[in-house]
Amino acid sequence: MQAGIHPNYHDVKVTCACGASWSTRSTVKGETLRLEICSNCHPFFTGKQKLIDTEGRVSLFERKAAKSKAMQAETAARKAAKPEATQ
Ligand SMILES: [Zn+2]
Repeated sequence: MQAGIHPNYHDVKVTCACGASWSTRSTVKGETLRLEICSNCHPFFTGKQKLIDTEGRVSLFERKAAKSKAMQAETAARKAAKPEATQ
């Protein structure tokens, strides 16, 4: 093996956001590797349809959609109250 050209390949502990953890070997810096998704929790492997909301993007969208629905209902109610002002 030639010296000075190989990356540091060492044992790492992998932990997923779902709670699964295992150990493997990697050239990653540090002793741990953190994942957002793994084969224990990915829908492809579990066969279950689910929303993966690691950064709150889905809940943010749902909040915005609910707010939009409320505003639409409010506008519709205002137009219904004053039908002559819809021109
Ligand atoms: Zn996982």
